[in-house]
Amino acid sequence: MIKRSFLGVKKPVLKYDFVESEGKEPEQLPRPSSVVLLLDEPLDSTRINLVKTGDQVRENEKIYLYKNSREYVISPIQGEITSIESYPGEFGDIGTYLVVEKSDHERSGDTKTDVVESLAGPSLDTAEKYLKTLPGAPPFDVLAEKGSDIHTIVITGFDPDLMATTRRYFLSNLKEELKEGIRVLKDLTHVPKVAVTVPETVEDRPGFEGMQLMIISGAYPEALPLMIMKNHLNITVPPGKSCVDMGVCFISAEAVIAMARAFRDKTPSFEKVVTVTGKDGSRKTIKAMIGTRISEVFKALNININENDRVIINGPMQGFATFTLSHPVQPSMDSIIVQDVDDIQHISDYPCINCGNCIKICPANIPVNLLVRRLEANMFEDAAEKFDLQSCIECGLCSYVCTARIPLFQYIRLGKHELLQMKAEAETEERNG
Ligand code: SF4
Ligand code: SF4
Repeated sequence: MIKRSFLGVKKPVLKYDFVESEGKEPEQLPRPSSVVLLLDEPLDSTRINLVKTGDQVRENEKIYLYKNSREYVISPIQGEITSIESYPGEFGDIGTYLVVEKSDHERSGDTKTDVVESLAGPSLDTAEKYLKTLPGAPPFDVLAEKGSDIHTIVITGFDPDLMATTRRYFLSNLKEELKEGIRVLKDLTHVPKVAVTVPETVEDRPGFEGMQLMIISGAYPEALPLMIMKNHLNITVPPGKSCVDMGVCFISAEAVIAMARAFRDKTPSFEKVVTVTGKDGSRKTIKAMIGTRISEVFKALNININENDRVIINGPMQGFATFTLSHPVQPSMDSIIVQDVDDIQHISDYPCINCGNCIKICPANIPVNLLVRRLEANMFEDAAEKFDLQSCIECGLCSYVCTARIPLFQYIRLGKHELLQMKAEAETEERNG
């Protein structure tokens, strides 16, 4: 819930919504007749491709685009690949999507997939090879990395952004499965410390013995990872570093349960829980197969999308607006919000009026008004060196309060992206002499 304060206090307060969903089951959506699977890898005609349109795939089959690809998807249905195309990601990055149309036509040969066979023996290596695309997108690449010095795992039973109760659903309604999942995760990783984020409203906390409970009770952005690092673990993440660099790995309650189920049932699950907020603010929790187009989610919930309405994925503060209703339910998709065109606050090209709102609200004490001037001028290194770009925790509050409606958060994310690109290019040049 968003509360704007009136007399006296100048900054608005964004409160997490502590309404509990205990006992309420998500609405199960029908299985789609075709799925859209996204790969964070561009099409490349110079590489040896492993799939083409017309190929038959089995349920649970692991799909790579190319020989030596690291990215993979697992098909949740048996069917035929009918399309392989590029899609534009953030900041001009290009990914690839595959469409699999359901069919009863079985491919000749073996009936078991390598995924199902491999899950017979739980290990971190197996999890990294086959379970990265489970609901909740577990970070097994981080946990399985050789020589990893992760010393703390934080399981998020509380959703970091506003208007989502997906993680809380698993914490409140599936406590026993979560505890079992944590036990499996501890056995696999041997990480010495495990902590769980819980809302202040969850009273039944027994069973988490030996773990640090991180009670979330305050205003946004208290549940963001960098705030948890500071407030609950007393670790300050230096500019340009990540939680993982500091030995801390975050994993959602949903991902922990999905992993334990996969090893228990010897098959991965594809049912993603998503919080959907309609134009009237009504909220529903649904369960949909990964790969389901969001147009089918709206159809099932009787939400009409008109031209220029906005669809926001993964939260009003940190999320992104999608341009297509064919966007699929993804392993990491916790929420979908629909905004009526009349309710959208449009960005402007007005200049900064130096009201100071962004500076007052920034939890990282960044001089945002000065920073954004460098970013608007593409002075990314200057922005990092002199105006703390890398200290930003990406909460989005500055954009929310900006009087001139400057898209400050978007400028900041673009700036960080550009710095990463520059660093990668410099490393490639160094390697190539
Ligand atoms: S998003 Fe804006 S308000 Fe939040 S930490 Fe970054 S600069 Fe500060
Ligand atoms: S909130 Fe917007 S208008 Fe106000 S100082 Fe910051 S950038 Fe300028």
